Amino acid sequence: MDKDHYELIILGGGPAGLTAGLYAARARIDHLLIEKGAEGGQVLLTDWIDNYPGFLDGISGFDLAEKMTAHAKRFGLNSTNANIVKVELSGGVKRLILEDDQQLTCDTLIICTGARPRALDVPGETEMIGKGVSYCATCDAPFYRNMHVAVVGGGNTAIQEAAHLTKFADKVTVIHRRDELRATKIVQEKAFSNDKIDFIWDSQVTAIEGESGVEKLQLINKTGETSTLKVDGIFVLIGVIPNSEMLPLETLGDEANGFIPTDSETRTRIDGVMAAGDIRSKKVRQVITAAGEGATAVLAAEHYLANR
Ligand code: NAP
Repeated sequence: MDKDHYELIILGGGPAGLTAGLYAARARIDHLLIEKGAEGGQVLLTDWIDNYPGFLDGISGFDLAEKMTAHAKRFGLNSTNANIVKVELSGGVKRLILEDDQQLTCDTLIICTGARPRALDVPGETEMIGKGVSYCATCDAPFYRNMHVAVVGGGNTAIQEAAHLTKFADKVTVIHRRDELRATKIVQEKAFSNDKIDFIWDSQVTAIEGESGVEKLQLINKTGETSTLKVDGIFVLIGVIPNSEMLPLETLGDEANGFIPTDSETRTRIDGVMAAGDIRSKKVRQVITAAGEGATAVLAAEHYLANR
């Protein structure tokens, strides 16, 4: 960082942040994108993306993240790697506090901090992360060659990643708490026609057990019947929780669930502060919608800067 004040700060470097960075760089706005990990966000946890327009044969999450970063850099994206621990937004100030207490201010802020995988919160889960409990099939699937794994969840992530896991595992058992999947029909159809995938319906995992790694799961179904399922690993893919710990939710609103409400132009209730991507309060969370919101947010930021 070469200075401590910018016209625009973009907080987060997933698809929303990178698209905001592309638009800000092209609009020649004095900007800084801050990302604490690798650029790409949750896209990096996705094996294959088949619904991003323009990529006829699909593209891996890793490649899409790399292309989005390179595209923004081509136009002069200014980015840095840093961990923001607190954002202050009272009295017209937009201040970001870094881990080492350094402070940055900006005229306008776009929050693109995204979300992270939700945990099951059952005994054995935390203890066996990396020993058979995983939240990322793309990252860990190759460890389960010729084995039997469970996938928990019935959304797009769970069902798509169950199919990905069959490239390695002999058998993938999807455990879902209802008798109907939430995933889109095309994703469901592929899974139902895959011989390596079977389903346990109306059931929840109550414990994950094993000596030095995952060996079995304790299950309960909706009639209260319990059972044990022997598996070599479990992938917990049950949705996301917002990365909003550093944000002043009492000022931004919607303190209850941590997602930030905005209008259709991505403007939050604070003047000059926008939110884009998975951190926004909304129903649809797709790479393409995150990218679209990143673009919309920069247009709102430009408008704010011109009229302030
Ligand atoms: P999601 O759509 O919210 O689905 C979460 C799933 O986990 C649901 O089936 C839910 O069950 C289940 N679940 C939630 N809490 C649970 C718990 N405590 N115990 C057991 N099961 C639990 O989440 P997602 O699949 O991660 O997707 C997130 C967003 O990304 C969605 O908007 C999704 O459409 C999008 N996405 C899109 C694509 C694509 O278009 N190709 C790919 C991946 C993700 P219920 O169904 O009973 O609520």
